[in-house]
Amino acid sequence: MSRHHFVIGIMVAGWCVAWWLGSVLLAVAVTVGALIVLGLGVAFPKLRIYGPYVCFGRADRRQVALTFDDGPDPRSTPALLDLLREAGVVATFFCVGRKVAEHPELAARIVREGHQVENHSFAHSNHTNFFTVGRLRAELTQAQDSIEQATGQRPQLFRPPMGLSNPRVFRAARALNLKVIGWTARGLDTKLTEPVEIVERILKRVRPGGILLLHDGNIPAERLVATVRKLLDKLRDAGYEIVRLDRILE
Ligand SMILES: [Zn+2]
Repeated sequence: MSRHHFVIGIMVAGWCVAWWLGSVLLAVAVTVGALIVLGLGVAFPKLRIYGPYVCFGRADRRQVALTFDDGPDPRSTPALLDLLREAGVVATFFCVGRKVAEHPELAARIVREGHQVENHSFAHSNHTNFFTVGRLRAELTQAQDSIEQATGQRPQLFRPPMGLSNPRVFRAARALNLKVIGWTARGLDTKLTEPVEIVERILKRVRPGGILLLHDGNIPAERLVATVRKLLDKLRDAGYEIVRLDRILE
């Protein structure tokens, strides 16, 4: 039973009490409260309202995982890969299937250099959270196929576009044996423009087992490289080892 079933159960119990007391006000309050919790659950993975959203890994070692969404992007991915190679760091790329199909050589390079390529939907539609289970399955399968074709590896992880979820997202992911991955700390690097601000935001939220989220798509390469360089320095100063996501999910 997911937490949203529990919330709905509480709401129904609240209605029963409201009916018994004859209180319309209580019925309205219970309904509004439940809708707020369910709404927050759509946008905030850590609440795990709709299913087993993985937002951090094992915390018994001082390790964190770097993840990059929305690539591959010929404007930023090559520079990012150069930096990661120079720094000796491996990361996880939640790639958009359509972009992988457009730039298979970039996806192949990501994997060749020791990183993971995982599923971030095929089209990254703003309406993904409204899709039926059938459409979600088709969308995720299309991304699985394009990633496997480009890299030879079939993803095992899925991060929903914008992190939005609902019960259908979890049903579709489960049907394809994909774990749904959120984040512990994100840089909001598509909105913030100063690398210092982005890095500070992440450092405030980082902890052992943390999954850190940045973007490798529609972001100026210089900003991305400056941000990652600074973040790696700060994480190492704080005694963190940076490992691939699969290592902290073991
Ligand atoms: Zn995205």
